[in-house]
Amino acid sequence: MNNPSTSSPAANSAPSQPTDVVIVGAGIVGLAHAAHAVANGLTVTIIERDHHAAGASVRNFGHCCITAQSGELYELAQTSRKYWLEFSERAGFWASEAGAVVLARTEAEMNVLRELSAVREPGQVELLSPAQTRARLGAAVSAADEAHNDDTHPGAWPGLVGGAFLRDDLRVDPRTTVALLAQWLSRQPGVELHWNTAALGFDQDSDGVTVQTSRGKLRAKQVFVCVGHDVDYLFPELAEEHRIQRCALQMSLAAKPSGVEFAPAVLTATSMLRYPAFTDMPAAAALHSEVLEKQPELLEIGANVMFTQRPDGTIILGDSHHYHSTADPFLDESVTETLNTEITGRMGQPLEIIQRWQGIYASSDVAPILIREIHPGVTVVSVTSGVGMTLSFGLAHRNVSQL
Ligand SMILES: Cc1cc2nc3c(=O)[nH]c(=O)nc-3n(C[C@H](O)[C@H](O)[C@H](O)COP(=O)(O)OP(=O)(O)OC[C@H]3O[C@@H](n4cnc5c(N)ncnc54)[C@H](O)[C@@H]3O)c2cc1C
Repeated sequence: MNNPSTSSPAANSAPSQPTDVVIVGAGIVGLAHAAHAVANGLTVTIIERDHHAAGASVRNFGHCCITAQSGELYELAQTSRKYWLEFSERAGFWASEAGAVVLARTEAEMNVLRELSAVREPGQVELLSPAQTRARLGAAVSAADEAHNDDTHPGAWPGLVGGAFLRDDLRVDPRTTVALLAQWLSRQPGVELHWNTAALGFDQDSDGVTVQTSRGKLRAKQVFVCVGHDVDYLFPELAEEHRIQRCALQMSLAAKPSGVEFAPAVLTATSMLRYPAFTDMPAAAALHSEVLEKQPELLEIGANVMFTQRPDGTIILGDSHHYHSTADPFLDESVTETLNTEITGRMGQPLEIIQRWQGIYASSDVAPILIREIHPGVTVVSVTSGVGMTLSFGLAHRNVSQL
């Protein structure tokens, strides 16, 4: 991955010239705040502890899950969608209005989709027949449908009963987006980006904020601390109060299978047990009972069985959810096997797994987003519900607009 060329880190021990905004953390949440600050004509200094961003923002599916949010998150997600597309144009990273397809193979699954479709504006959640689902996904699912209906899979699940197309969802490439956005930001007037520079502490006075970093001090009128799941390193009491945990997810990358090309993200039944617009539906309770009865192993690993295809054709597969204060570094092969067997079953063909990794995001059962002004001028921002890609630009727009 190419790193942006940036100015040298601030190796000063005395406070430098103040900037309007200091951003701590160059993941998508921090960079989205930087992008909106730049768009508002503010000067911005970004500091990132690592030599390039390697956190949750590069380890995910690149699925902006707009449609399946509800309430405040839905409003933020729709604002985010607008700015994902705008900054993709400006910064030159790939973002596609490809939507998402939810596969349904039982009536209980289809009922959730029917209910959501009925409460949304026409066309936003488009119910699909099996043939229409195959038309949206090509070989990624038609093979699966046939395989599940033939005699070689006794006891297998039935083939598709249908699906739904979620029109407003976006696709981005998690492996390139953050680096390209950081590169673009570093070229904008009034922006400094310092890698390998960690925030250590914050002191507020009547003129602004001093940020203590591993390379000296920075001065700013406003600081956004966007450190994802590492809030507890800087603010342990806040992390405890918000009950932030590290949610660890197991992921795989498959080589591009010959002839398989699909644009939308692909979601399945367990996705409908996770995202709020689905879980808000009355039919979600029956779906939960069905999955519990037929595939309890998926619930045991907190599965959200889904997959996306990157622009180079490789396929991202996942995911499981395990919650810890400090995440265990050891991947459990049986978890990966459960997820990948489920997905290859849907695709009806084996996949060549070429990478496995663990992703970690901040999770809280208190609220889906943490925004807290720790001192005047120092605001902690962390998405604590696993949809930080989806919400990033909307959340940043709201926070920066309030300056
Ligand atoms: C496997 C996986 C799949 C996911 N799938 C999706 C999805 O499909 N759609 C979706 O919307 N969301 C998804 N998410 C969630 C999403 O990726 C995260 O919510 C989002 O990336 C969080 O962004 P962030 O910038 O807050 O955190 P991060 O990307 O983790 O960035 C935080 C940055 O802060 C830096 N940092 C930490 N401490 C300091 C410090 N003291 N000083 C300086 N820098 C510091 C870190 O090095 C890091 O680069 C997924 C997450 C995972 C792990």
